[in-house]
Amino acid sequence: MINTLGLKSLRPISESRRVEEPGGSFISVLEVEPCHVSTRCPSCGSDKLHKHGVRSQHYLDVPHFGEPTSLLIHRKRWRCTVCRSLFPDPLPEIDEKRRATTRLIDYVRKRSLIYTFSEVGREVGTSDKTVKAIFEDYVEELESKYEFITPKFLGIDEVKILGEYRCILTNIDKCTMYDLLPSRKLADLRKYFDNFKNPEQVEVFTADLWGPYAQIHKEYFPHAKMVADRFHVQRMATNAMEAVRKKVRKSLTQKERIKMKNDRFLLGGFKRQVQQYKNQP
Ligand SMILES: [Zn+2]
Repeated sequence: MINTLGLKSLRPISESRRVEEPGGSFISVLEVEPCHVSTRCPSCGSDKLHKHGVRSQHYLDVPHFGEPTSLLIHRKRWRCTVCRSLFPDPLPEIDEKRRATTRLIDYVRKRSLIYTFSEVGREVGTSDKTVKAIFEDYVEELESKYEFITPKFLGIDEVKILGEYRCILTNIDKCTMYDLLPSRKLADLRKYFDNFKNPEQVEVFTADLWGPYAQIHKEYFPHAKMVADRFHVQRMATNAMEAVRKKVRKSLTQKERIKMKNDRFLLGGFKRQVQQYKNQP
């Protein structure tokens, strides 16, 4: 049989068959066996081995032809006649902890960055809990590889995710995200900033006008300059000017109002007016 499996250590010994799962979904089952059999004992190095039966176990693999796929691996076990240890054929492309191929673990890691745990679980034929566990291992691995250096210019703001405001910390200087916190409530922020590394290295603290951020600045970064985000200040100033403009407009006569047509561009839209003028043929 031609080996189209794409794994070096396993070869198929049957055509795949579709099996109905308890929930009504289908899974493709492919029977396979290891390509290389053990010739030496991993404990003592002896080549005096006895076959000790075959164990058949299911391991999830990446979806084949758009359907969740399980490999039923028939794996020989061996008994060493010298040291008596018992061991199975090696499976280097299998993750025993997750009962899956290592390429499936890689696949789930990448997919769970884009899709929900349930969607990925349905696609590969496992529970969302398993997908979440694989994802959490992945995040832990990534976090251990990266060192987050305290920014000189620390930005604090919020972003709405799943209906809740989450606090987002940024390194303004490098234009990168520093951290994402589940909440922006003062009590939660305090818990986080109690363990913040090297707060004295923050020279500038930029925030919007949300009260708790100002409080955090006062408590944890009193030495750093506080900068209010230009966007928020500008928006408040623009709104105030708009209110005044409308008030003045109300006091005008009809004739005066016509004269003042498009007066709103005198304030906020001046730049746009210039652009429109420039674009004229
Ligand atoms: Zn041995």
